[in-house]
Amino acid sequence: MDKLKGRHAPLRRSLWVVSLYLLAGGLWITFSDYLAEQWFPDPEALSRVQTYKGILFVLVTALVLFLALMRQFSSDRTMLSLHHHQREEIQNLNQFRESVIERANVWINVLDPMGRVVLWNKAAEDISGYRRAEVLGSDEIWPWLYPDDEERARIRARAEEILRDEGEVVGYETRITTREGSQRLISWNSRSLRNDAGDIVGSIAIGQDITDIREAEITIRQRERQLSTLMDNLPGMAYRCRYDEYWTMLFVSSGCRELTGYEPDELLNNKRISFAELIADDAEEDNLRAVESAIGNAEPYSLEYPLVRNDGQRIWVWERGRAVENNGGLVLEGIILDISDRKALEDELAELATLDPLTGLLNRRETTRLLEEEITRAKRYGRALSLLWIDFDHFKDINDEYGHAAGDSVLKATSHLLADSMRRVDVIGRFGGEEFVVVLPEMDRYEANETAERLRNLISETPQPLGDGKTVRLTISIGVSVFPDNGPDFRALCAAADKAMYQAKSNGRNQVVMAPLTEEAHNS
Ligand code: GH3
Ligand code: MG
Ligand code: MG
Repeated sequence: MDKLKGRHAPLRRSLWVVSLYLLAGGLWITFSDYLAEQWFPDPEALSRVQTYKGILFVLVTALVLFLALMRQFSSDRTMLSLHHHQREEIQNLNQFRESVIERANVWINVLDPMGRVVLWNKAAEDISGYRRAEVLGSDEIWPWLYPDDEERARIRARAEEILRDEGEVVGYETRITTREGSQRLISWNSRSLRNDAGDIVGSIAIGQDITDIREAEITIRQRERQLSTLMDNLPGMAYRCRYDEYWTMLFVSSGCRELTGYEPDELLNNKRISFAELIADDAEEDNLRAVESAIGNAEPYSLEYPLVRNDGQRIWVWERGRAVENNGGLVLEGIILDISDRKALEDELAELATLDPLTGLLNRRETTRLLEEEITRAKRYGRALSLLWIDFDHFKDINDEYGHAAGDSVLKATSHLLADSMRRVDVIGRFGGEEFVVVLPEMDRYEANETAERLRNLISETPQPLGDGKTVRLTISIGVSVFPDNGPDFRALCAAADKAMYQAKSNGRNQVVMAPLTEEAHNS
C-alpha cells in the first residue's frame, strides 16, 4: 500500500497545485475587478489599476512558482546526492563481501536450483583444482567431483533436499576427486538461499578440507593403539608416577598384574596399596637417593631392588626411568622388569666362579681370597692360623694304570673325604691338579700337625673308588705352615707350606712335614 501511495504522490501533488492555481486565478478574475472598483472609484485611477492588475498577477504567480521550483530543485539535489552515496556504499559492501568470500580459506560455492554453479571461490579452485571459468554456469562439476554414479546420486539427492529447504546440512562429509585425480575429504555446511521476495534461488555450501586433520587423527589413533599393544606386551610394567614418597601411580600397563600380582586399578592413585609399600624396606632409601641424584643431574635412573608381590613372594626387579615435567610438577616415567631369573643365574654363576668344577671344592681364587681374609682376621685378633699343602703321591701312576677317568673319580672321592673330616670353620680348596690347600683358623703348630697326621692316616687307610666298582689305595704328602711363625702373609705362608710338602716328598712321601720356624719366630 505504501508503495502504491508513493507511486501516485507526484500526480496528486501536481493536480493539487494546478487546482490551487486555477482556484486562485478564478478568484482573481472574479473578484479583482469588483475589488478594484470598490477601492478606486475614480475611473482614471481604476483604468490604471486594471492595466497593472494583470502585470501584478503575473508577477505574484511568477514569484510563487519561483519559490516552489527553488524548493523542489534543492530537495531533488539532496535526494540525488544521497542516492549516489548509497549506491557507492552498496557497491563497497558488495566488493567487501566478494573479497571475503574470495579470500576465505574455506571452499564456498553457490548453486542455482538446477545444480549449476553460480559462485566458485578461490579456495574451491585450489582444493578441487577446477578453475571458475570451467565450472561457472554448468552442472558438469558433479561428475567431475563424484565420478562414482551411485555416490553422486546420493549426494545430489541430499543437495536437492536443501534446495527444497528441508533443513540445512552441518558437517556432511564427502570424498571428492580433484582435477589431478587425488581424493580429498570435505566437510560441508550447506543451506538454501532466498531472494528478497523469499523465493529459494539456490543453495550455498561451505566446505572445509579435513583430509589432513582426519589423517592426523587416524595416525594418532593408530599410534595410540600401537603404544597400548606395545605396553600390554612389554615384558614388565610401564608406569607413570608422581615424584612423591608413595610413588603414587598415575598409569601402569597391564604387565602390572604379572609383575606385582595386583590389578593395575589397585595401584592407581594408591587405591589399594602404594607402590612404595611393595618395595622391600631395605631398598627404599637407596632407591630414593638414586632417583634424587639422577633428577639432579637430569639423567635417567636405573635401579635394582627386591619387590614384595601381592602373594608375599619376593622378586628382584630392574627399573629404568626418568623425570619429566608435567603441568608444572615432576612425574616419573619408566619401566620395571622382573629380573629374578637373571639374579638366580648370576648367583649360580658367582657360585660357579668360586667352585672347582670337578670336585665341587672351592677353587684356587676363592681359597686364596678366604685365606687372605683369615690371615687378616688372625692378625687383628692375634690368633694363630695354619695352612696345609697337600699333594697326592704318585698320582700319575693311577692315571697311567686305570685311566684318566678313574683318576678323576679318585680325585673327587678323596677330596670329599678330606672336606668331610674337617671342622666347619676350616676351608679346603683345590689349588690345581692333585694339590689341595687347607686353611685351619685358630690352629697352632701342634694342633695343625695333629690334624695333618689325622688326614694323612685317613687317606692311607681308606681305599678310594676308581668308578668301576674297584678301589685303589693312595697316600698323600702334607706340608704345614703356621701364621705368624712361618710368615706374615699369604705368599710367605704358601711358600713355606709348599716347601715343607716337597720336603715330605723327598723324605719318602706319605708324611707330614712342618715348615721350620724362622729365626725370629724361634727366638720369640
Ligand atoms: P708325586 O708323588 O711326585 O706328586 O707324583 P705325581 O705323579 O703325583 O706327580 P705330580 O704331582 O707332579 O703330578 C700330578 C699328576 O696328577 C699329573 C697328572 O697326570 C695328574 N693330574 C693332575 N690333575 C688331574 C686331573 O684333574 N685328573 C686326573 N685324572 N689326573 C690329574
Ligand atoms: Mg702335584
Ligand atoms: Mg703328586
